[in-house]
Amino acid sequence: MDTDVVVVGAGLAGLQCARRLERSGLRVVVLEADDVVGGRVRTDEVDGFLCDRGFQLLNPAYPAVRDWIDVRSLGLQRFGAGAVVRTGGTTTTLAHPLRHPQHAVATLRSDLTPMRDVLALARWLTPTLLRARAAFRSPGRTLRESFDEAGLTGRLRTHVLDTFLAGVLAESGGESSAGFVRLLLRSFALDVPGLPQDGMRALPAQMAAWLTGPVRLESPVREVRETSDHVTVTTDDGTLRARAAVVAAGPQDAAALADVPAPRTHGLTTWWFSAPDAPRTGPFLLLDASRPGGGPAGPVWNTAVISAAAPSYAPPGRHLVQATTLLDRPDGLADEAQVRRDLARLHGTSTEGWELLVHHVVEHALPAQVPPLGDRRPRWTGERVLVAGDHAATASIQGALLSGDRAGRAVADRFRP
Ligand SMILES: Cc1cc2nc3c(=O)[nH]c(=O)nc-3n(C[C@H](O)[C@H](O)[C@H](O)COP(=O)(O)OP(=O)(O)OC[C@H]3O[C@@H](n4cnc5c(N)ncnc54)[C@H](O)[C@@H]3O)c2cc1C
Repeated sequence: MDTDVVVVGAGLAGLQCARRLERSGLRVVVLEADDVVGGRVRTDEVDGFLCDRGFQLLNPAYPAVRDWIDVRSLGLQRFGAGAVVRTGGTTTTLAHPLRHPQHAVATLRSDLTPMRDVLALARWLTPTLLRARAAFRSPGRTLRESFDEAGLTGRLRTHVLDTFLAGVLAESGGESSAGFVRLLLRSFALDVPGLPQDGMRALPAQMAAWLTGPVRLESPVREVRETSDHVTVTTDDGTLRARAAVVAAGPQDAAALADVPAPRTHGLTTWWFSAPDAPRTGPFLLLDASRPGGGPAGPVWNTAVISAAAPSYAPPGRHLVQATTLLDRPDGLADEAQVRRDLARLHGTSTEGWELLVHHVVEHALPAQVPPLGDRRPRWTGERVLVAGDHAATASIQGALLSGDRAGRAVADRFRP
């Protein structure tokens, strides 16, 4: 045998899987198609700015992050615990009253936080806040059905939660699992997410640095074939024989390599601009809920002055602004002029002096997390090949890490010497 286990894909799932296998005493080779590790967690450096490949945040409250990531050494720069919500001509800052006491009165008095909605949300979320397992026991409803059933129907839902969650889930129809959203909101309630000093790429870089075995970049796997006593993994440079393989190649590529169906996915685009002056939203995400029934009046669902929360993302004296559009909307592929117009309206400032740094279209950002929320495990497709990744758990960093870890444990249990 060339090695004990081949891991296909150096995204978060593949890296955590490899780490678990090595800790179990198995020899591991990781094969990655791309020229860097990280998969969907990547960062481009553009003109001195750090632009992640699609706006995303690291939540230190995720159990997998707490257990397996050295968050302290990432130098997490936290966002504000709340959001600025634009409704037509006005903006309101809604923020955690204890973390941001200066916004407490405005938050509690806002017509975006009617008491009826606040109580309905509390009833809806409290069991999961107390115990994460409760989310798995909740009925298998979509978010939309579940909010309706809970009587959460006022402006807190239509203008704040629906808009915020559409950006997080990359889908605007409320079709995602309500149980999954409970878990997400639990993480947001327990801690405040942020961005590493060196960009989101620092997360997979840290994980790769912990490995002792090789991570071979630019090595796309063409075939994974199982025989009675080994697995053959074929790349353009030849074949590797191993006792087992873990396919952690993301939802689309896993389906091409292993005998599993490709899940539906949701996509988004992120626009990154350099601005000479910082718009005044501070370290908060700005949500657009300007349509009368809620939701954005233009293509941009959320925008943020990234450098106000994460100064390392911009050179000194310059400012980085992101804007997110959703591919499940007809205007998801709006052009630069439309996005600039929208940003000018949202931030209440001209965007003429803004410079476009880069625009990322991430077609398969997240696997659709449809109900019911099961405690899903990595899937064996035979005796020696296992499929892992966020699509085999939950559509998140937490899901990818957990799935990778579980795959590593399962393979180690079967193949440890
Ligand atoms: C824009 C965006 C925003 C997000 N926001 C958040 C967020 O705020 N919070 C959160 O928790 N999650 C977020 N996520 C989700 C999170 O990033 C993913 O769930 C997670 O990174 C998935 O990791 P993975 O290892 O399962 O898959 P991937 O990251 O897709 O890794 C798969 C790897 O396999 C490689 N590969 C594919 N085919 C082959 C092959 N044939 N041979 C070798 N290698 C191959 C790929 O190149 C890739 O490196 C976001 C994702 C995106 C894209």
